[in-house]
Amino acid sequence: TTSILPVFKQAEKFKDDIALTDQHGEHTYGHIHRLSGHLAWQIQTVLGKDAVQQRIVFLCPNDVSYVISQWATWMAGHIAVPLYPRHPPPELEYFIRDSEAAVIITTSEYAPKVKQIIAGQQVIVLEEFFFKPSLEDDALRPAHFGQDPQFYAFSDAMILYTSGTTGPPKGVLLSHSNVQSQVGCLHQAWGWTQRDTLLHCLPLHHTHGIINALLCPLYIGARVVMLPSFSPAEVWSHLLALNAPVEARVSLFMAVPTMYVKLLDEYHARLAKTSRTKEYVRSVCTQNMRLMISGSAALPESVLASWQEVTGHVLLERYGMTEIGMALSNPLKGTRHPGFVGTPLPGVEVRIAKFVPRQKDYQVVCEGSSAGTKVMPGCENESGELLVRGPSVFKEYWRNPDATSKEFTHDGWFRTGDTAQCHEGSYKILGRTSIDIIKSGGFKISALDVERELLTHPDIADVAVVGVPDLTWGQKVAAVVVWHGEGELDPVALREWGRERMPHYKVPSEVVQVKDTLPRNNMGKVNKKQLLLDFFKDPHS
Ligand code: ATP
Ligand code: MG
Repeated sequence: TTSILPVFKQAEKFKDDIALTDQHGEHTYGHIHRLSGHLAWQIQTVLGKDAVQQRIVFLCPNDVSYVISQWATWMAGHIAVPLYPRHPPPELEYFIRDSEAAVIITTSEYAPKVKQIIAGQQVIVLEEFFFKPSLEDDALRPAHFGQDPQFYAFSDAMILYTSGTTGPPKGVLLSHSNVQSQVGCLHQAWGWTQRDTLLHCLPLHHTHGIINALLCPLYIGARVVMLPSFSPAEVWSHLLALNAPVEARVSLFMAVPTMYVKLLDEYHARLAKTSRTKEYVRSVCTQNMRLMISGSAALPESVLASWQEVTGHVLLERYGMTEIGMALSNPLKGTRHPGFVGTPLPGVEVRIAKFVPRQKDYQVVCEGSSAGTKVMPGCENESGELLVRGPSVFKEYWRNPDATSKEFTHDGWFRTGDTAQCHEGSYKILGRTSIDIIKSGGFKISALDVERELLTHPDIADVAVVGVPDLTWGQKVAAVVVWHGEGELDPVALREWGRERMPHYKVPSEVVQVKDTLPRNNMGKVNKKQLLLDFFKDPHS
């Protein structure tokens, strides 16, 4: 159905239960609901009673102030634009201008930064009317604020900006009904219940941290333990908090692959001192936790294997994007295949298709849903563009009809821009068609496949594979390697090692060594365009 049960209706039902634990303490659903009602009233005071669907930017730390800002925006019928407070001012300015924000909600911590940027927007600083002693309950304005439920069936909820990996970030407009579908299919697929407690350590401007890790628990009455930022030591101390009361023990955890790498580093540096502590970590993780999930970038198989060794958990890898929420997921029960992102989630239709320029249309390679995937005759193991359709797919790019019409086919499929392959019903992401699919001398090479292979080398800590323009081959395979071996990396020896493991055309012909880390953003994504500029010369220039 398209009818929406807004999160604050749930909040009434679970009013005495704890929704969130953060750096300030514990907050019940009822408490957050009351404060949100008050802030909604404040927004309405600023914008006028009749205003709806205005953009409300918020720059808040990862704590209750974020949740209140989000709920209040929705109660007052507006569109939430959550931004990352640590982004540099020029980026924030871009998002504030692009979304045409009417109000900016922030905290006293970020208010000075916000006030440098604004151009005519109203600024609401939360501390100026919350957290005052006079505001204990009765002084708060409406207890039951909110639009008619029907309103939410046909209105917009959020603008989220994409990560900007392939070009400038695009504003993705999601309706309440999109959000509800995205949350609903994960409730079903990952077996969420009100008894779950999720440890949250993700940025809150991106679909992973917002939909999967915050709204999934809040829409079902579960509990979130929210860290102000990702810290490996803090995460471990929460995962291992055996003396926490049963209902506060973390049962679910989500992170991006680089976070799992840092957690493993921390484990080896500080926790894995004796076989007794190793045993302890493993038994606590298996007793308390029911599910640990990875996504937003490809999960290296070595990380999956090490994580299983340390915690006893096989990470569940899933695939999604800002525009569609989650689309493919490994199973809650049943085998999770390393290197694969699983099968279509409930309600999501998926296709792999090849564009045939002569016919100006797609030729379908395979077609799937949660009921299964059908491969077209003669198309076994072929790769192509991943297309997605269903109620979770976004409405449009914000004020960008050209981009919107370009990214949808005439029959309503969204072009993900990712190249994928299906093998025995399970999907594999080969990478972004425009960046990760390297065309070299007639071969199409998946940069992600080459990265997966190189990461099995004991001295390679991290790697990004890119296609460098080449006069003879069109493109050639190049690798930027974080080398942890003794001495300098020997490119000749590395290529020899590569030739024993992969076809010659996949072996990087150029290798660059870097000392510490690759330039990754806070979602663990490497900016490959930047790598190309920094490390490789364009033969045409
Ligand atoms: P932009 O759209 O601005 O270029 P982006 O696509 O990186 O940036 P997001 O929406 O945050 O922005 O990321 C979605 C992309 O992340 C997917 O299209 C896919 O390429 C990648 N991705 C997500 N999950 C996985 C996964 N499990 N394995 C491999 N890639 C993944
Ligand atoms: Mg994208």
